[in-house]
Amino acid sequence: MIFLAEPNLTGNERKYLNECIDTTFVSSVGAFVTKLEQEVADVVEAKYATAVSSGTAGLHMALRAGGVERGELVCIPSFTFIATANAVAHCGAEPWLIDVSEISWTMDPFVLEKELEEKTYEKNGQWYHKETGKRVAAIMPVYTLGLPAMMDRLREIGEKYQLPLIADGAAAIGAQYNGGNIGSIADATVFSFNGNKTITCGGGGAIVSNNKELIERARHLATTARCGIDYEHDMVGYNNRMTNLQAAVGCAQLERVYEFVDKKRRIRDYYNSQLKDIEEVSLFPDADWAKSACWFSGVVLGRRYKVKEICTALKEKDIEARTFWKPVHLQKPYKHAQRSNMPVSERIWEEILTLPSSTGITDEELAYVVTTLKNILKG
Ligand SMILES: *Cc1c(COP(=O)(O)O)cnc(C)c1O
Repeated sequence: MIFLAEPNLTGNERKYLNECIDTTFVSSVGAFVTKLEQEVADVVEAKYATAVSSGTAGLHMALRAGGVERGELVCIPSFTFIATANAVAHCGAEPWLIDVSEISWTMDPFVLEKELEEKTYEKNGQWYHKETGKRVAAIMPVYTLGLPAMMDRLREIGEKYQLPLIADGAAAIGAQYNGGNIGSIADATVFSFNGNKTITCGGGGAIVSNNKELIERARHLATTARCGIDYEHDMVGYNNRMTNLQAAVGCAQLERVYEFVDKKRRIRDYYNSQLKDIEEVSLFPDADWAKSACWFSGVVLGRRYKVKEICTALKEKDIEARTFWKPVHLQKPYKHAQRSNMPVSERIWEEILTLPSSTGITDEELAYVVTTLKNILKG
């Protein structure tokens, strides 16, 4: 079977895990945790980082540290993994779902601005949702498939409405924005190191920011809000720290981050070059403002194809392929959430076919995927 996204553990993972066992530092304090935080900050060029137990926990802690409170609203794109919305709900807040742009599949700044303009009012420098009276507390753009959102425009909107930008960059480590790095284009950025991401810790995540207080607040919340070494806690905290075992794997992975991202981009280029001329097949978006980290590659299939059927046909040929995110507003827990109209999200999600994109995939396997897919599409 050629898998969609298989962890690539052929570096120092085993060696570093053995170091954890030999030193007995297996839990949430240890040299690898500190090292991972420093290295993630370096790779994305942010000043500060804190490691957490998952991307979802990172989003949750970052929203809380960024000032999101119970009963408030956070603007997120509907076309995202459900964890983005769940992190908002874990704060006791509610997602305000915004459609994505046709050209990038990231939050559409025009739709966001129109929603805020039409549906909020201002009081003492804060903006409130007219219908519910709820305060709007943050904007959480998602770097879809590793492609940074239109951050310049979103930042302008954030400034106008006094809203922090907390980015869900879960799969975007290694991406670029306007020729620079992504570590400081939002007030805080969250990465995931889940098993299917470019860099994995088994499970884990990190929050980066240039705002030291924000990172300290997030770390404090994630560490049971403990003050000092005695059992003194100053708020209801969480146990969301990354362990040294997870960080050991992550440190070994980070030694290869540029190699992995480079490979991901070559996979994207190969699929694009081989599949671009097929009728009713179009490519995943690219942008002139950013360079994607190309977490997953694949194609967009026109209406004459049923993506699920193509997946089944590929599976019969030992190729794992899948549909992609079902928009949040179509998910049971969020069907009553505030939202914009969703023409783009509703159209694209049923047309996307993700193809094997593991960093360990060989040229022969890639060629086999392409030949097999072409045959299936020909019918
Ligand atoms: C993977 C992912 C997450 C969740 O990360 P976990 O580490 O699995 O909790 C959140 N948002 C997006 C966009 C993701 O791709």
